[in-house]
Amino acid sequence: MIPEAMLEFNNVSLTYNGEATPTIDNLSFSIKRGEFVCLIGPSGCGKSTIFRLVNKLLKPQCGEIYADGQSISDHKNYCGYMPQNDLLFPWRTVADNVRLPLEIKGGLSKSEMDDRVNEVLKNVGLENWGQKSPSELSGGMRQRAAFARTLLTGCDLLLLDEPFSALDYLTRLSLREWLLDQWERDKKTILFITHDVDEAVFLSNRVFVAEHYPIDSLTSVDIPAAYPRSLKSLSEPGIADIKERLIGMLRKETA
Ligand code: ADP
Repeated sequence: MIPEAMLEFNNVSLTYNGEATPTIDNLSFSIKRGEFVCLIGPSGCGKSTIFRLVNKLLKPQCGEIYADGQSISDHKNYCGYMPQNDLLFPWRTVADNVRLPLEIKGGLSKSEMDDRVNEVLKNVGLENWGQKSPSELSGGMRQRAAFARTLLTGCDLLLLDEPFSALDYLTRLSLREWLLDQWERDKKTILFITHDVDEAVFLSNRVFVAEHYPIDSLTSVDIPAAYPRSLKSLSEPGIADIKERLIGMLRKETA
């Protein structure tokens, strides 16, 4: 076990029921506390399977997964998960959607929950939208509400599965900047799945590339650009070279 790791896979393998070959094969990697890591790879290579293993929707046939230094098999409430689709309940107001993790966890009075919800809605720029229905929000606002709900799990490790992929280009650009602000403020550890190399390079300290199927390793590529980042930092020569290298790695896989 690596002491400073927030998430660690130790020789983890997963074969889906009825399948002859594994999807994850003896995989080891680790992510440090406070890192922002993007995971890229072609569709169907096993990225979401890694998330399903972390949040215990799947159990590996062998190996061990640690979150914050503890095996996840006897660990609860260690990660918040935000899917591609915001999954806001249409019959609940925005505030009541965001409140859900607090209700599930229990232990807080109604007014304590209201305070936490109001605070997080303010942080994500939705302080005047709590009493609206999710259908009254734009796509970008819905994703911010879904992110607020993920934050209220209280977990330091966040798994974000292509959260911006259904949004239009300009909304994606502004949500990327917004997410980095949130990350710098809250000091969470984020593992983020994306297909988009620009998005991965803009957001990450490191990019993990799933280069092989089954996934038996993740190639780690550092992004040596300071935060806060701007679109301009993506076009600096060193970063542009890294982008090209990442695209080359993905092309090799899909060829
Ligand atoms: P990605 O997130 O990279 O697009 P997934 O992790 O969703 O890929 O899926 C990886 C592989 O596992 C795919 O080939 C997919 O068809 C297969 N797979 C996913 N879920 C199941 C399942 N429940 N049973 C069998 N195979 C599955």
